Amino acid sequence: MPDRERAFSRNAKPTLHGGELDAVREVLDSGQFGHGEATERFEEELADFLGVPEVVAVASGTAALHIALLAAGIGPGDDVVVPSMTFCASVQAIVACGAQPRFVEVDPVTMCVTSREVLEAITPATHAVVPVLYGGRAVLLDDIQDGLAERDICVVEDAAHAFGSYRGERRVGAERGTATCFSFGPIKNLTCGQGGAIVPRNGQEAARARRIRLLGMVESAADRAATTSYQVVGPGLRAHLSQINAAIGRVQLRGFATVEAGRKELWRTYADALRPLRGAGVVLVDVDVEHSVPSLCVVRVPDRIKVFAALRAAGIGVGVHYPPNHLQPAFSRFTRPLPVTEQTAGEILTLPFHNGMSKSDVDVVVAALQGALP
Ligand SMILES: *Cc1c(COP(=O)(O)O)cnc(C)c1O
Repeated sequence: MPDRERAFSRNAKPTLHGGELDAVREVLDSGQFGHGEATERFEEELADFLGVPEVVAVASGTAALHIALLAAGIGPGDDVVVPSMTFCASVQAIVACGAQPRFVEVDPVTMCVTSREVLEAITPATHAVVPVLYGGRAVLLDDIQDGLAERDICVVEDAAHAFGSYRGERRVGAERGTATCFSFGPIKNLTCGQGGAIVPRNGQEAARARRIRLLGMVESAADRAATTSYQVVGPGLRAHLSQINAAIGRVQLRGFATVEAGRKELWRTYADALRPLRGAGVVLVDVDVEHSVPSLCVVRVPDRIKVFAALRAAGIGVGVHYPPNHLQPAFSRFTRPLPVTEQTAGEILTLPFHNGMSKSDVDVVVAALQGALP
């Protein structure tokens, strides 16, 4: 018999609310697995939750970024400003459009881009900025928003970590003039198993995104069944959200309040437990928990490689988010010196963080961390 898995031995883990299986069974029984009724209900419920006119559901967070950039007209010859400190998906989405990622530094306190860094990175070819809402924290670019718009630079935010977080009084996604992309992958704040969504900037962009996600076709699946033809009116991907995944997302959205409260509480528990380690050089990356639904708990530590190995050896599910993209072989042609990112990337350590954890799990993690410090 293997040891019973302890909550702190996993870095992340989905939260299920109990209705997911029945919801999936209902879709399976219906025999309609593609884009359909459940997908469209999910879109409406997301739009209500966020307080926006419409949401376009897609197959993944990566597809959301790819399609949102395409719908905003990004393509070959365009530079897209993106932090190197992000999941490789943000960068692959840019490359998939034929555009060039222009890597930018982050503030080591928040791990997010700042207006100053974004302005510094802009070139005459820049037509988009992809801020990443690291750990769930909303990125504020208000002071440069108008300037960016004047230069025909759109903001497509990667809010894969930030479903449910607030920017001021409104949920992330409700900002006018910014396209927002969510991921509903296995370990995000809300999961469909696999999935994603775009909050487009306007109706025209929404229509484009709906077309692109379904192979460039104009009619819905229901319409198609009733006619002998369909029209392909533009470029397209196979990136719709299956009803099987949408059904899971609908149940997750109904249970989201408990995830939201639990994640905030867990993050605060960590913040309290970690405070005494500050003198030993352990610095918690600030997700602005007051406004966020945190999705990661990241610390910067001295001697990270050794601390990481010691915690792994002790059965603590630590991780690293992320190895910087400007140093990845696939993106070497876009690299440029980013000293702050490189320094920070050598210090970060992601602690186990999911709704299955209790205060005593946090105490185990923090005691082990303390014991592993140089
Ligand atoms: C998860 C994630 C993505 C991609 O989402 P998928 O649903 O896995 O395709 C993009 N950006 C960031 C920052 C992520 O964490």
